[in-house]
Amino acid sequence: MTSHVGSSEGYLRESWDEFARSSQIRRMTETNPPTDFPGWSAVFGRCAGEFAVLLLLDFDGTLSDIVQDPAMAVLRKGNTRTLNMLSSKPGYAVGIVSGRSLEDLMERVALPNLIYAGNHGMEIQAPGLRFVHPDVATYIPGLAEIASRLRLALAEIPGANVEDKTLTLTVHFRQTPAQYHEKIHALVGAIVQQPPMFGRYRITHAKAAIEVRPAVDWHKGRALELIRSRLHPHAFPIYIGDDRTDEDAFKAAQDAGGCGIFVGPAGNTTCANFRLDSPAAVSAALADLVSR
Ligand SMILES: [Mg+2]
Repeated sequence: MTSHVGSSEGYLRESWDEFARSSQIRRMTETNPPTDFPGWSAVFGRCAGEFAVLLLLDFDGTLSDIVQDPAMAVLRKGNTRTLNMLSSKPGYAVGIVSGRSLEDLMERVALPNLIYAGNHGMEIQAPGLRFVHPDVATYIPGLAEIASRLRLALAEIPGANVEDKTLTLTVHFRQTPAQYHEKIHALVGAIVQQPPMFGRYRITHAKAAIEVRPAVDWHKGRALELIRSRLHPHAFPIYIGDDRTDEDAFKAAQDAGGCGIFVGPAGNTTCANFRLDSPAAVSAALADLVSR
Protein backbone atom coordinates (compact mmCIF):
# COMPACT_ATOMS: atom_id res chain seq x y z
CA MET A 1 0.00 0.00 0.00
CA THR A 2 1.25 3.45 -0.82
CA SER A 3 -0.04 5.91 1.68
CA HIS A 4 0.49 9.51 2.52
CA VAL A 5 -1.17 11.61 5.19
CA GLY A 6 -3.74 13.97 3.79
CA SER A 7 -2.86 13.12 0.22
CA SER A 8 -6.23 12.04 -0.98
CA GLU A 9 -9.89 12.44 -0.29
CA GLY A 10 -10.54 9.73 -2.80
CA TYR A 11 -10.21 6.53 -0.86
CA LEU A 12 -13.89 5.94 -1.39
CA ARG A 13 -13.72 4.28 -4.76
CA GLU A 14 -17.48 4.22 -5.14
CA SER A 15 -20.58 4.67 -3.04
CA TRP A 16 -21.06 2.35 -0.10
CA ASP A 17 -23.85 0.42 -1.80
CA GLU A 18 -21.90 -0.14 -4.98
CA PHE A 19 -18.90 -1.06 -2.94
CA ALA A 20 -20.81 -3.41 -0.67
CA ARG A 21 -21.88 -5.51 -3.63
CA SER A 22 -18.31 -6.17 -4.66
CA SER A 23 -16.38 -6.15 -1.43
CA GLN A 24 -15.70 -8.21 1.62
CA ILE A 25 -16.74 -5.32 3.87
CA ARG A 26 -20.44 -5.51 4.48
CA ARG A 27 -22.53 -2.86 6.17
CA MET A 28 -23.09 -4.45 9.56
CA THR A 29 -25.99 -4.42 11.95
CA GLU A 30 -26.23 -6.26 15.23
CA THR A 31 -28.12 -9.06 13.55
CA ASN A 32 -25.20 -10.04 11.31
CA PRO A 33 -22.27 -11.93 12.75
CA PRO A 34 -18.91 -10.38 11.87
CA THR A 35 -16.66 -12.05 9.30
CA ASP A 36 -13.41 -13.54 10.57
CA PHE A 37 -10.71 -10.95 9.97
CA PRO A 38 -9.66 -11.50 6.35
CA GLY A 39 -6.27 -9.75 6.44
CA TRP A 40 -5.40 -6.13 5.66
CA SER A 41 -5.38 -6.50 1.88
CA ALA A 42 -9.07 -7.39 1.95
CA VAL A 43 -9.86 -4.61 4.45
CA PHE A 44 -8.13 -2.03 2.28
CA GLY A 45 -9.55 -3.48 -0.90
CA ARG A 46 -11.95 -0.56 -1.21
CA CYS A 47 -9.21 2.07 -1.06
CA ALA A 48 -7.93 3.34 -4.34
CA GLY A 49 -4.59 5.10 -4.86
CA GLU A 50 -2.86 6.74 -1.95
CA PHE A 51 -4.73 6.91 1.30
CA ALA A 52 -4.18 7.53 4.98
CA VAL A 53 -5.24 5.29 7.88
CA LEU A 54 -6.64 6.36 11.23
CA LEU A 55 -6.31 3.35 13.53
CA LEU A 56 -8.08 3.66 16.87
CA LEU A 57 -8.06 0.91 19.46
CA ASP A 58 -9.55 0.16 22.84
CA PHE A 59 -7.05 -0.69 25.60
CA ASP A 60 -8.32 -3.38 28.03
CA GLY A 61 -9.01 -6.70 26.35
CA THR A 62 -7.73 -5.35 23.03
CA LEU A 63 -4.17 -4.07 23.48
CA SER A 64 -3.87 -5.59 26.96
CA ASP A 65 -4.88 -9.02 28.13
CA ILE A 66 -7.80 -9.06 30.57
CA VAL A 67 -6.34 -9.43 34.06
CA GLN A 68 -7.99 -10.07 37.43
CA ASP A 69 -7.00 -6.66 38.77
CA PRO A 70 -7.55 -3.87 36.17
CA ALA A 71 -4.85 -1.81 37.90
CA MET A 72 -2.30 -4.40 36.70
CA ALA A 73 -3.22 -4.26 32.99
CA VAL A 74 -0.33 -3.43 30.67
CA LEU A 75 0.24 -3.39 26.91
CA ARG A 76 0.80 -6.94 25.65
CA LYS A 77 4.40 -7.84 24.89
CA GLY A 78 5.29 -6.51 21.46
CA ASN A 79 2.48 -3.96 21.27
CA THR A 80 4.64 -1.12 22.56
CA ARG A 81 7.07 -1.55 19.69
CA THR A 82 4.33 -2.18 17.13
CA LEU A 83 2.27 0.87 18.11
CA ASN A 84 5.39 3.01 18.11
CA MET A 85 6.32 1.85 14.61
CA LEU A 86 2.77 2.26 13.30
CA SER A 87 2.44 5.78 14.68
CA SER A 88 5.60 6.83 12.89
CA LYS A 89 4.74 5.05 9.65
CA PRO A 90 3.92 7.54 6.87
CA GLY A 91 0.19 7.83 6.37
CA TYR A 92 -0.74 6.30 9.71
CA ALA A 93 -2.26 7.89 12.80
CA VAL A 94 -2.77 5.70 15.86
CA GLY A 95 -4.87 6.32 18.94
CA ILE A 96 -6.24 4.59 22.02
CA VAL A 97 -9.83 5.17 23.12
CA SER A 98 -10.56 3.85 26.60
CA GLY A 99 -12.93 4.05 29.51
CA ARG A 100 -9.90 4.68 31.71
CA SER A 101 -9.08 8.24 32.70
CA LEU A 102 -6.82 10.09 30.28
CA GLU A 103 -4.09 10.33 32.90
CA ASP A 104 -4.21 6.59 33.67
CA LEU A 105 -4.19 5.70 29.97
CA MET A 106 -1.25 7.98 29.11
CA GLU A 107 0.81 6.70 32.04
CA ARG A 108 0.06 3.09 31.19
CA VAL A 109 0.90 3.37 27.48
CA ALA A 110 3.54 6.12 27.64
CA LEU A 111 4.21 6.39 23.91
CA PRO A 112 4.72 9.72 22.18
CA ASN A 113 2.80 10.69 19.03
CA LEU A 114 -0.31 8.71 19.89
CA ILE A 115 -3.82 10.07 20.19
CA TYR A 116 -5.19 9.37 23.68
CA ALA A 117 -8.92 9.47 24.45
CA GLY A 118 -9.87 8.78 28.06
CA ASN A 119 -13.18 8.48 29.91
CA HIS A 120 -14.86 7.19 26.73
CA GLY A 121 -13.59 10.17 24.76
CA MET A 122 -14.73 12.89 27.15
CA GLU A 123 -11.07 13.93 27.36
CA ILE A 124 -8.72 13.68 24.40
CA GLN A 125 -5.08 14.59 24.01
CA ALA A 126 -3.09 14.33 20.82
CA PRO A 127 -0.45 16.27 18.95
CA GLY A 128 -2.55 19.25 17.83
CA LEU A 129 -5.64 18.51 19.89
CA ARG A 130 -6.68 18.96 23.52
CA PHE A 131 -10.38 18.35 24.20
CA VAL A 132 -12.52 18.10 27.29
CA HIS A 133 -16.24 17.73 26.78
CA PRO A 134 -17.64 21.21 27.57
CA ASP A 135 -20.57 19.98 29.67
CA VAL A 136 -18.90 17.51 31.97
CA ALA A 137 -17.59 19.91 34.65
CA THR A 138 -21.07 20.32 36.13
CA TYR A 139 -21.32 16.55 36.61
CA ILE A 140 -18.11 16.12 38.60
CA PRO A 141 -19.50 16.88 42.12
CA GLY A 142 -22.41 14.49 41.58
CA LEU A 143 -20.07 11.72 40.45
CA ALA A 144 -17.97 12.20 43.59
CA GLU A 145 -21.16 11.89 45.64
CA ILE A 146 -22.19 8.72 43.79
CA ALA A 147 -18.69 7.30 44.34
CA SER A 148 -18.84 7.89 48.07
CA ARG A 149 -22.36 6.43 48.40
CA LEU A 150 -21.31 3.41 46.34
CA ARG A 151 -18.21 2.82 48.47
CA LEU A 152 -20.41 2.64 51.55
CA ALA A 153 -23.02 0.44 49.88
CA LEU A 154 -20.48 -1.98 48.39
CA ALA A 155 -18.25 -2.21 51.46
CA GLU A 156 -19.67 -5.59 52.43
CA ILE A 157 -19.36 -7.14 48.97
CA PRO A 158 -16.10 -9.04 48.49
CA GLY A 159 -13.88 -7.91 45.60
CA ALA A 160 -16.08 -4.99 44.52
CA ASN A 161 -14.43 -1.59 44.31
CA VAL A 162 -15.23 1.87 43.02
CA GLU A 163 -12.82 3.74 40.78
CA ASP A 164 -13.55 7.47 40.60
CA LYS A 165 -12.15 8.68 37.26
CA THR A 166 -13.40 12.26 37.86
CA LEU A 167 -15.48 12.48 34.66
CA THR A 168 -16.90 8.94 34.95
CA LEU A 169 -16.70 6.18 37.53
CA THR A 170 -16.36 2.43 37.34
CA VAL A 171 -17.51 -0.28 39.74
CA HIS A 172 -15.18 -3.24 39.21
CA PHE A 173 -16.29 -6.72 40.25
CA ARG A 174 -14.09 -9.15 38.33
CA GLN A 175 -12.97 -10.68 41.64
CA THR A 176 -16.45 -10.81 43.17
CA PRO A 177 -18.27 -14.18 43.40
CA ALA A 178 -21.12 -14.45 40.89
CA GLN A 179 -23.86 -14.65 43.53
CA TYR A 180 -23.25 -10.97 44.35
CA HIS A 181 -23.40 -9.62 40.79
CA GLU A 182 -27.15 -9.03 40.73
CA LYS A 183 -26.97 -7.19 44.03
CA ILE A 184 -24.19 -4.93 42.70
CA HIS A 185 -26.26 -3.99 39.66
CA ALA A 186 -29.25 -3.25 41.88
CA LEU A 187 -27.22 -1.07 44.27
CA VAL A 188 -25.64 0.97 41.48
CA GLY A 189 -29.03 1.42 39.81
CA ALA A 190 -30.64 2.56 43.06
CA ILE A 191 -27.93 5.07 43.99
CA VAL A 192 -27.83 6.67 40.55
CA GLN A 193 -31.63 7.11 40.77
CA GLN A 194 -31.46 8.95 44.10
CA PRO A 195 -31.87 12.72 44.27
CA PRO A 196 -30.08 14.93 43.38
CA MET A 197 -28.42 12.61 40.84
CA PHE A 198 -31.64 11.34 39.29
CA GLY A 199 -31.65 11.70 35.49
CA ARG A 200 -28.18 13.25 35.33
CA TYR A 201 -26.16 10.06 34.99
CA ARG A 202 -26.41 6.92 32.96
CA ILE A 203 -25.19 3.42 33.59
CA THR A 204 -23.36 1.32 31.02
CA HIS A 205 -22.17 -2.24 31.35
CA ALA A 206 -18.73 -3.55 30.51
CA LYS A 207 -16.91 -6.80 31.22
CA ALA A 208 -17.12 -7.38 35.00
CA ALA A 209 -17.67 -3.67 35.45
CA ILE A 210 -20.44 -1.09 35.59
CA GLU A 211 -19.79 2.46 34.56
CA VAL A 212 -21.59 5.61 35.61
CA ARG A 213 -21.27 8.50 33.19
CA PRO A 214 -22.77 11.97 32.75
CA ALA A 215 -25.98 11.73 30.73
CA VAL A 216 -24.46 13.67 27.85
CA ASP A 217 -24.65 12.48 24.27
CA TRP A 218 -21.02 11.41 24.10
CA HIS A 219 -19.33 8.05 23.69
CA LYS A 220 -16.45 6.35 21.90
CA GLY A 221 -18.20 6.83 18.56
CA ARG A 222 -18.44 10.58 19.04
CA ALA A 223 -14.79 10.59 20.08
CA LEU A 224 -13.86 8.83 16.83
CA GLU A 225 -15.83 11.40 14.82
CA LEU A 226 -14.14 14.27 16.63
CA ILE A 227 -10.63 12.85 16.22
CA ARG A 228 -11.26 12.14 12.57
CA SER A 229 -12.84 15.48 11.72
CA ARG A 230 -10.28 17.58 13.64
CA LEU A 231 -7.09 15.69 12.84
CA HIS A 232 -7.47 13.21 9.97
CA PRO A 233 -10.61 14.03 7.96
CA HIS A 234 -9.52 12.09 4.88
CA ALA A 235 -8.19 8.97 6.57
CA PHE A 236 -9.71 5.50 6.41
CA PRO A 237 -10.88 4.87 9.99
CA ILE A 238 -10.47 1.49 11.67
CA TYR A 239 -11.67 0.83 15.20
CA ILE A 240 -10.73 -2.29 17.20
CA GLY A 241 -12.36 -3.16 20.53
CA ASP A 242 -13.79 -5.94 22.64
CA ASP A 243 -16.66 -4.58 24.72
CA ARG A 244 -20.18 -3.16 24.60
CA THR A 245 -18.94 0.41 24.85
CA ASP A 246 -16.94 -0.14 21.64
CA GLU A 247 -20.09 -0.68 19.57
CA ASP A 248 -20.65 3.08 19.15
CA ALA A 249 -17.17 3.36 17.69
CA PHE A 250 -17.72 0.43 15.30
CA LYS A 251 -20.78 2.25 13.98
CA ALA A 252 -18.97 5.59 13.73
CA ALA A 253 -16.05 4.00 11.85
CA GLN A 254 -18.47 2.55 9.32
CA ASP A 255 -20.41 5.81 9.03
CA ALA A 256 -17.11 7.46 8.13
CA GLY A 257 -16.45 4.86 5.42
CA GLY A 258 -14.14 2.62 7.44
CA CYS A 259 -14.64 -0.52 9.47
CA GLY A 260 -14.84 -2.00 12.95
CA ILE A 261 -13.06 -5.08 14.25
CA PHE A 262 -14.49 -6.91 17.26
CA VAL A 263 -12.15 -8.79 19.57
CA GLY A 264 -13.57 -11.95 21.10
CA PRO A 265 -15.01 -15.38 20.42
CA ALA A 266 -17.60 -16.04 17.70
CA GLY A 267 -21.22 -15.85 18.73
CA ASN A 268 -21.16 -12.34 20.21
CA THR A 269 -23.61 -9.75 18.99
CA THR A 270 -21.73 -6.84 17.48
CA CYS A 271 -21.90 -4.16 14.79
CA ALA A 272 -18.27 -4.72 13.84
CA ASN A 273 -17.46 -5.91 10.33
CA PHE A 274 -14.69 -8.28 11.30
CA ARG A 275 -13.62 -10.37 14.25
CA LEU A 276 -10.28 -11.23 15.81
CA ASP A 277 -10.24 -13.95 18.46
CA SER A 278 -8.19 -12.40 21.22
CA PRO A 279 -5.73 -9.66 22.20
CA ALA A 280 -3.00 -12.01 20.92
CA ALA A 281 -4.67 -12.01 17.49
CA VAL A 282 -4.81 -8.19 17.63
CA SER A 283 -1.06 -8.09 18.31
CA ALA A 284 -0.42 -10.33 15.30
CA ALA A 285 -2.67 -8.22 13.05
CA LEU A 286 -0.90 -5.03 14.16
CA ALA A 287 2.49 -6.60 13.43
CA ASP A 288 1.20 -7.50 9.94
CA LEU A 289 0.10 -3.92 9.45
CA VAL A 290 3.57 -2.60 10.34
CA SER A 291 5.14 -4.77 7.68
CA ARG A 292 2.74 -3.81 4.90
MG1 LIG B 1 -12.03 -3.28 26.32
